[in-house]
Amino acid sequence: MANSPRLLIKNGTLVDGSGRDPLANTLIVVEGNRITHVGPADGSIRPETSDDTVIEADGRFILPGLIDAHCHISLHQGALLGVKYTSSAEFCTLWAAHVIGRVLRAGVTSIVVPGGKWFTDVTVREAVAGGLLEGPRMVVAGRALSNYGGIFDPDPYPAYEGTPNDAAGVLCNTRDEFIRETRKQCKRGVDLIKIADSTWGDVQTVADDEISAVVDEAHRHNVKVAIHSRGSTSTRAAASAGIDLIYHGDWATEADLDIIAKAGMPIAPVLTSPWIGVEHGAAGRGFADRVQDRLRAQLDHSFQMIRNARDRGIPILSGSDTGNASAFNHGRWHGKEAELFVKEVGMTPMEAIVANTSQNAWLMGLEGEVGIIAPGKLADIVVWDSDPLADITVLQRPSEISAIIKDGRIVDYEAGGFRQLGKEPPRARMFLPG
Ligand SMILES: [Zn+2]
Repeated sequence: MANSPRLLIKNGTLVDGSGRDPLANTLIVVEGNRITHVGPADGSIRPETSDDTVIEADGRFILPGLIDAHCHISLHQGALLGVKYTSSAEFCTLWAAHVIGRVLRAGVTSIVVPGGKWFTDVTVREAVAGGLLEGPRMVVAGRALSNYGGIFDPDPYPAYEGTPNDAAGVLCNTRDEFIRETRKQCKRGVDLIKIADSTWGDVQTVADDEISAVVDEAHRHNVKVAIHSRGSTSTRAAASAGIDLIYHGDWATEADLDIIAKAGMPIAPVLTSPWIGVEHGAAGRGFADRVQDRLRAQLDHSFQMIRNARDRGIPILSGSDTGNASAFNHGRWHGKEAELFVKEVGMTPMEAIVANTSQNAWLMGLEGEVGIIAPGKLADIVVWDSDPLADITVLQRPSEISAIIKDGRIVDYEAGGFRQLGKEPPRARMFLPG
């Protein structure tokens, strides 16, 4: 009987995603879509044959594929030359199909999509799973559930006109409307319901019982619930309602964090998008100084909030908010959150890598299956040219990737001139602090 073909990754240094010390000169064997061996080559391994695909990783660093807990793919913003309606379902689908490969080729083999237009993201998730598109594994939400005064009821749109069907948010102004929209989105196949409170967190727009109603309804459908919550009271209300994940949480007090720690949900702070706003706002077009000052203050507060959360053992998930605005190019910023975790929050590079791999796997519903390199796990693996433990910014440079394996298959890395992508300057045109 013929041996099945294998993928062998030889002689690299393994950083396995669990937080364990790196292991030099490893051999990793992949058969089908699973990892079947990790360790030094020894006599128990069937010798290499011409049927095997071999990746020589001498001097390189082998990590699990990155997981981005906050990446939008259907929110095209701004005009595109020659396209009249960039918010149509048709265009959003084309846009998502256009950018999804860039995410994968940045070494990101899984993404959580907390909000999008129409049900585009559900369809793209299914197209990727069905092999129609090459992209990362996806867990997706639909339009964000928001009410008058919430982030998706933005000025200058007059609230009395409602939210148009092509908006990224859907207005829900009563408990019944929140339940109805949750039920509809569950039926259409979302993995996650996204509630959206106020833009900056200065007021709580979604009432406590509305959050609880969404959580009850979604959980009955085995769907998770996340909230855009920057404020103290909204964050506390979400934790008390048993929400699954808090995005941002900037103004959470120590008392709020005590409640979160007791309730047991993680926080995904999303530092990268305000950081881009602060660092690149002045050079960009459209960032008012007032907005920039506010983002800087919020960011400083967030750094301390995360330290306080870590002191209480609250898991911190890593997400970039890629795709929320044209400045947040797909493929460019997925590794930035790890750098900010290290330089601004005080995590070790290893802790930041764990946050971007095995820890984020929980939100994918694949805890212990992806984000970790060990026998029996799904084979999502990236081979980097340089050591991210020595320089965490390596994770922001797709040009330093020599191989990406997703679900046991080698990704065609050169497709679309991808090696050039890491060199693109940020293009700041529009900004939504979502
Ligand atoms: Zn977002």
